[in-house]
Amino acid sequence: MSQYPETLLFIDGQWIAASDGRFVDVVNPATEQVIGRVAHAGQPELAAAAAAAGRGFAVWSRMSVFDRYRIMRQAATLLRERVETVAPIMTMEQGKPVAEARTELLAAADTIDWLAEEGRRAYGRLIPARAVGVTQAVIRTPVGPVAAFSPWNFPVNQVVRKVGAALATGCSIIVKAAEETPASPAALVRAFADAGVPAGVIGLVYGTPSEISETLIAHPAIRKVTFTGSTAVGKMLAALAGSHMKRATMELGGHGPAIVCADADLDRAATTLVAAKFRNAGQVCVSPTRFLVERPVFGRFVERFAELARKVQVGDGLQSGTTMGPLANVRRVDAMEALIGDATARGAEIVTGGQRVGNAGYFFAPTVLRDLTTEMRIMNEDPFGPVALMVPGSTRWPIACGRATRLPYGLAAYAFPGSGRTAARLRDEVRTGMLTVNHLGLGLPEVPFGGIGDSGYGSEGGTEALDAYLDTRFFSMRDY
Ligand code: NAD
Repeated sequence: MSQYPETLLFIDGQWIAASDGRFVDVVNPATEQVIGRVAHAGQPELAAAAAAAGRGFAVWSRMSVFDRYRIMRQAATLLRERVETVAPIMTMEQGKPVAEARTELLAAADTIDWLAEEGRRAYGRLIPARAVGVTQAVIRTPVGPVAAFSPWNFPVNQVVRKVGAALATGCSIIVKAAEETPASPAALVRAFADAGVPAGVIGLVYGTPSEISETLIAHPAIRKVTFTGSTAVGKMLAALAGSHMKRATMELGGHGPAIVCADADLDRAATTLVAAKFRNAGQVCVSPTRFLVERPVFGRFVERFAELARKVQVGDGLQSGTTMGPLANVRRVDAMEALIGDATARGAEIVTGGQRVGNAGYFFAPTVLRDLTTEMRIMNEDPFGPVALMVPGSTRWPIACGRATRLPYGLAAYAFPGSGRTAARLRDEVRTGMLTVNHLGLGLPEVPFGGIGDSGYGSEGGTEALDAYLDTRFFSMRDY
């Protein structure tokens, strides 16, 4: 079993504590015990990190894309070699079953590989000129040092999407990862450092989130901001980035609709959606949340879904057989209790779950609710937890589509229609960043990942992920 390590700041190629010696405790959500600590950056460390990122950018952006690619591929190799050590560390700090942690780390290595490869294809283009002897070119250059803010639900995956795209395009980056889950992102950064990424190209800091974002976003060295987290914080950081005219990518909350049609394969829909719903205890921005089920099959679908939800094995992620760990922090438990309490007080029925499990650890039962109305908070706010909201749907599609997109969010939507014709209709009419039909098809490195509306803007996958870190510039020359 891996020992849980102390996490330091990574600034200018060195692992250091803060000059005032400040640390913050890290708690295991399965036991509520303090398992370690993380260094807390103050102003001197943030200033040093920003200056180092400026120097790192000067080095990295001038390195050939092929050399950058080779270093990144080596980081992916090192990460794969270290999976068995790092996965339990992620479970200890975040709670997810160790098998999910392992999958996340292997996916992170794949993401690095893909972005490194794609960085070699960040082509510009030549535009035919109107005059003889004129060359017109579009060139794409790295935007500059990046400030990245990532959350605790996928401690490595949320960081690697940002670091991978930044490095693949020649940017340097300072990451503020989540203070609650610091050690696994530090292991990712270590893999890059050990692979040969030069000093200053990657920084890793922890501390007071608002202090770090206000300092780094305003810092003249920083040219781009990227954030994954709640819509409320995203709006603040986007405004701050805007006030300094810095580019921004915002990957925010959602309230994923899952449309189940009367003529769908109900068992397949239930099995697939239960797996999606309770993965990472529902703490996933693309988690399906509102299940819009056509009325004729509503009862049958709810029954089958609840039956499968009761089979989810809740427990410590380090124990074999666990399929759902605890919630990652006590805020999520409080949020679940408040949202479910509000819903039941207004008439919702708990089909299964609805409360904490055990006396220690932030365990919460997989929960299914029905008899919901749009006045209930849970029907409007991202619950970010293991709760499925069952809503009988109309058979008239304009209404179903309208209900699916009733909220200002537009991140992921799921559908199980009985025909290709309905699927095409949903594709055209459900206003969402991502729609996946008959299966779970989100989040691979090569496909776009991101939302619209209150779910944010910019993409963290596909070639679009690189666009976010590149400036488009124009060059025109008349022959001598
Ligand atoms: P939160 O909004 O306070 O924090 C989310 C993340 O943003 C955390 O990592 C936090 O450290 C960071 N953060 C908070 N304030 C910040 C600031 N001023 N500057 C920079 N970073 C800041 O909420 P939380 O309690 O940690 O999580 C709850 C909500 O966040 C959920 O309801 C969910 O909607 C959202 N969330 C979304 C994702 C996602 O993948 N999109 C991930 C985690 C949380």
